[in-house]
Amino acid sequence: MYGTGLAKGLMLTLRHFVESYVDDVRYGFRKYHHSTDNFGIRQGTKTKGVITVQYPDEKIAVPERFRFVPFLIIEDEDHPTRAGKDWCTSCGICAKVCPPQCIWIVRGNDPDTGRPVPEPEAFFIDIDICMNCGFCAEYCPFDAIKMDHDYELASYDRTTHHIHDKERLSKPNSYWRSIAPTRAYDEMLVRGTWEHKDAAKEARRGAASARGSAPQPAAQTEAETASAPAAAAEAPAATSEATAASAEGATPWSEDEAKREERRRKALERKAKRAARRGQ
Ligand code: SF4
Ligand code: SF4
Repeated sequence: MYGTGLAKGLMLTLRHFVESYVDDVRYGFRKYHHSTDNFGIRQGTKTKGVITVQYPDEKIAVPERFRFVPFLIIEDEDHPTRAGKDWCTSCGICAKVCPPQCIWIVRGNDPDTGRPVPEPEAFFIDIDICMNCGFCAEYCPFDAIKMDHDYELASYDRTTHHIHDKERLSKPNSYWRSIAPTRAYDEMLVRGTWEHKDAAKEARRGAASARGSAPQPAAQTEAETASAPAAAAEAPAATSEATAASAEGATPWSEDEAKREERRRKALERKAKRAARRGQ
């Protein structure tokens, strides 16, 4: 019948109107009292009727995947070796994929050698042009750029305040983990570490060099002073000792590193053969 939908809509509005007051009575008018934090009750799933969020004193919690403008991740201030260091390597992928082209990056150079270094000297995003698509964050191979939850960016001067520079864009890793704990955890699983990829690599390299510079056993020191042919003759025995040690689980490096070492050795052999062929 003509007008039924209209009547239903009006009934719904009336029901919300009545339920708002019923809900107020149910909570004894404490829902809006400022002495206690009732925001959770008012925003809860059991609340009925129309509610008013007292913005800006109150804000509706945003979902974890909410995205506004991007920010750059830097290392936490309490990081033991890389405090405040950029995760960004200035590879430029985000600037290439950004549909409205609102990212500018200036790659850093080593002041001594003049060679490029993997960190940005300057990084700008024009947030008036940014359309919050999140492509930059999706494509970044280093998890260095993320979408922020901060949407209160209004200002009176759009020419300067809306072009965010590196200082304004940079936020610590702990901030990202606080606003998006699930995503940060998933990324960690894919990356294999809570650290930046480079930090994890440096740590592995440091551990390997520490092993290399560790004091050698007396027997090994003697072997070093022996002549090269003698050392070569002893090599198979040493290899079999290492194999035996490995079988006992005494190898000080992981299997992955052993495989890497083997690959490296073979690559060096191939290189030596190539050099020999060239010399013929
Ligand atoms: S893609 Fe990531 S690492 Fe590359 S420039 Fe952009 S933010 Fe930096
Ligand atoms: S969110 Fe989208 S539009 Fe904004 S900077 Fe990233 S890629 Fe560009």
